[in-house]
Amino acid sequence: MNREQLWQATLGELELSVPKVHFTTWFRNTFIVDWNEDTVVVAVPNNFTKAWLENKYHKSILRILQSITENKVSRAEYKVETNSKKYDRLSERLSAPASPPDAEVHPAPALARSGAAVASHPLNPRYIFANYVVGKGNELAYAASVRVAKEPGTKYNPLFLYGGVGLGKTHLMLAVGNELLRTSSSLKILYITGEQFTSDYVSSLQTGTVEAFKQKYRTPDLLLVDDIQFIGGKEQTQEQFFHVFNALRDSHKQIVLTSDRPPKAIPALEERLISRFEWGMIADISSPDLETRTAILASKSKERGAALDEDALRFLATHIQSNVRELEGALNKLLAHCELHGIEPTLAVAREVVSSITLSQRRGGVSTRELVKIVAEYFDISLDDLTGQSRRKELVVPRQITMFLMREELDASYPTIGNELGGRDHTTAMHAYAKIKRDFDSDERVRQDIGSIRQRLYNG
Ligand code: ADP
Ligand code: MG
Repeated sequence: MNREQLWQATLGELELSVPKVHFTTWFRNTFIVDWNEDTVVVAVPNNFTKAWLENKYHKSILRILQSITENKVSRAEYKVETNSKKYDRLSERLSAPASPPDAEVHPAPALARSGAAVASHPLNPRYIFANYVVGKGNELAYAASVRVAKEPGTKYNPLFLYGGVGLGKTHLMLAVGNELLRTSSSLKILYITGEQFTSDYVSSLQTGTVEAFKQKYRTPDLLLVDDIQFIGGKEQTQEQFFHVFNALRDSHKQIVLTSDRPPKAIPALEERLISRFEWGMIADISSPDLETRTAILASKSKERGAALDEDALRFLATHIQSNVRELEGALNKLLAHCELHGIEPTLAVAREVVSSITLSQRRGGVSTRELVKIVAEYFDISLDDLTGQSRRKELVVPRQITMFLMREELDASYPTIGNELGGRDHTTAMHAYAKIKRDFDSDERVRQDIGSIRQRLYNG
């Protein structure tokens, strides 16, 4: 293993644990300048980065270096390397197609070959077209998926499905796979999440089995990648996915992708991937309307062999609006409740269940304390730093974002906000709120951070 491979493998691992905005900020222009027996010297672009790596990431970096080199490395140092020419070359290499790693030149090790078979998760057989309820929010996505299952690799390639949590993206994608399995059972299908694709690539780097990795993803007739947005910001992974995509599409293999947002809105997704994702068919899935929600509930309760009366169905569908997963959750709760007490699922019981759900949501809602904790975790700083008095920029912005979110998400008053953040004056909170509100419109970074934190707030 040479210096570059060691660092790439290390970055690959770090990418999995560090929020992507930070990853790009702190690791973009880094490389190993020296690797001498047990000591690795990492070059960084400036003192600021040096301090961050030393204080924040040193432990993780060292741990990863040790594990990759089987403890040959026991020290890591950081050095500012201002040779800008060298830099340009290196950052170019980080974003340009990588030169073939050793694994491609030398015969792949045995391990690599054994990994070449398409190993995929079995498709959950519950997700089929027959039990997918079609309504206003999903009819286009449904029609496109059916079409793809009829004529894979021809018209809509890739098929890109996007929409919020729990709206049926995975269900539709797997329905395509299950339908194709039914009609042509010899078809090779590979189903994977964006996150698994990333870690698969990282471990292939570590074990020197990149060649097998590439092989694996070039063999399926149908590639299903769930939650592709995960590869946003991960340069090396995107590079790999780019090649997989091209290889499959060139040989008319079908690709289906899902995401929580359209290609253009995926943070730090390379332009060339955006344009490819837009080549085929993009269909969004939006929240089902009341009629569709009622139909979904009726179908699900029938599947469970339960007889929900019309009024109870309507009541649930009217009051649980967020997404289909929660709707299903409410139904399960209702049925469990009825079974436990030996009663029929009537409107009165539905009322009871719904009110217990909304109550617990309110009680289980995020508190200001929890918000502070989530923000601190997200920015990878301590609670004391976040609420403390230091004016360092890397603390001030997270602090202001916390205040902004307390106001926007929790409707907290300015004095409360000031209090929660280390006893600050309410005018400080007002100022912070106004500042971040402005930044939100003009600063992509701030927007991304806030988006990611909101997601953590609401998705746990
Ligand atoms: P997503 O991948 O968009 O987060 P899922 O596909 O996991 O959502 O769907 C969440 C649950 O809701 C699954 O159990 C799925 O079967 C169900 N579901 C979603 N949309 C529908 C629909 N239109 N008809 C029937 N079930 C649905
Ligand atoms: Mg899903």
